[in-house]
Amino acid sequence: MIYKRSSALFAEAEKVIPGGVNSPVRAFKGVGGTPIFVKEAKGAYLYDEDDNRLIDYINSWGPMILGHAFEPVVNAVIEKARKGTSFGMPTEIETEIAELAVAMVPNIDKIRFVNSGTEACMSAVRLARGFTGKDKIIKFAGCYHGHSDSFLIQAGSGASTFGVPNSPGVTQGTAKDTLLARYNDAEHVAALIEANKDEIACIIIEPVAGNMGCVPPKEGFLQTLRDLCTSNDILLIFDEVMTGFRLAKGGAQARFGIAADIVCFGKVIGGGLPVGAFAARNEIMNHLAPLGPVYQAGTLSGNPLAMAAGLAMLTSLNNDDEVFNRLEEKTKYLHTGIAKVLTENNVTHTINRVGSMISVHFDAAEVVDFESAAKGNNDTFKAFFHGLLNEGIYIAPSAFETWFITDALTYEDLDVTSKAVDKVSKSL
Ligand code: PMP
Repeated sequence: MIYKRSSALFAEAEKVIPGGVNSPVRAFKGVGGTPIFVKEAKGAYLYDEDDNRLIDYINSWGPMILGHAFEPVVNAVIEKARKGTSFGMPTEIETEIAELAVAMVPNIDKIRFVNSGTEACMSAVRLARGFTGKDKIIKFAGCYHGHSDSFLIQAGSGASTFGVPNSPGVTQGTAKDTLLARYNDAEHVAALIEANKDEIACIIIEPVAGNMGCVPPKEGFLQTLRDLCTSNDILLIFDEVMTGFRLAKGGAQARFGIAADIVCFGKVIGGGLPVGAFAARNEIMNHLAPLGPVYQAGTLSGNPLAMAAGLAMLTSLNNDDEVFNRLEEKTKYLHTGIAKVLTENNVTHTINRVGSMISVHFDAAEVVDFESAAKGNNDTFKAFFHGLLNEGIYIAPSAFETWFITDALTYEDLDVTSKAVDKVSKSL
């Protein structure tokens, strides 16, 4: 494939945007080469500035669960835009989407909309601290909860790709309140709680981790966290920015039957527009301003275009009883296809999959936490990534990311992908 125009656009961008990108993982730093510039996208396909067509397995890092330029979302946004793009005043549609989200997701009475997953997680932690009157939080190595200060301690995603576990600019004062646990290691969490008795406000976790590749929770792990939180007066925060409205209508809480105290959303909930949200039962949400003392705000929060996109997306998912089964079946089919050809070509690998989240790790050992995820062979991943790109398949440009399956993918697309993996594996 030719990427002449993309390369030229990147060179221009680098002059005026740090690293040429507005979010680091886009920059191909982990895999080398220059990023692809997108011209447009429809359904399962991206069309780049050099007129290449790519089958997209990132889908805007999750939001496009029903495909790009999904008609109901596009129409809702156009219609709203004609009536004004922002007012900074309440609108009816905010209540409509809130009612729908509260109906779809278990264990929440109220929801507050923000503009990104980062904002959602940052606000959820402040609310947990305000509610419990305690300062410390527990997060898991390899989990990413956005780029706010408290979370940039062994974060996954781009922070792992670049090997920068702690960002300069995060103060020691902030870092000392974030305790780090090993994913899937409940004993480690229990020990941290014991050593910090009555000081921990919340445990925040990706109920299925997606920022160190896809890492499922081990049987019983989430339930143990639930029990530890309940018996120690700690709030359990599920960061469902990836899993929300993806693993089930009610997200990971519904899929695993575990109740979180606060749930964070992003990605799918905005249908591709900048939306995040956090939600909880009344007792907790009523601590938020203007009802309570915990302050949180946003000029563009609940923006009409964003709400219109989100409402159209959630309505489509809510009205389709088969969509999550279809997504699961497609992902399983892809898993089987890829595993078969990798094995036939003697490529050492482990594939993790939950619902429509899947990732390929180039190591034989089980991938259960950040340490095991980091053992994957990055040189193999780089060759795999570029090989697939050359075949017109676009996966995330980092081994620490999940592939997001969209319902717009056909079984033919999935077969094309397995064939491409077969071809690429022969030269790995
Ligand atoms: N939480 C999780 C689980 C995420 O995957 C992400 C982004 N990938 C975030 C939070 C942050 O969301 P945003 O990029 O919208 O700020």
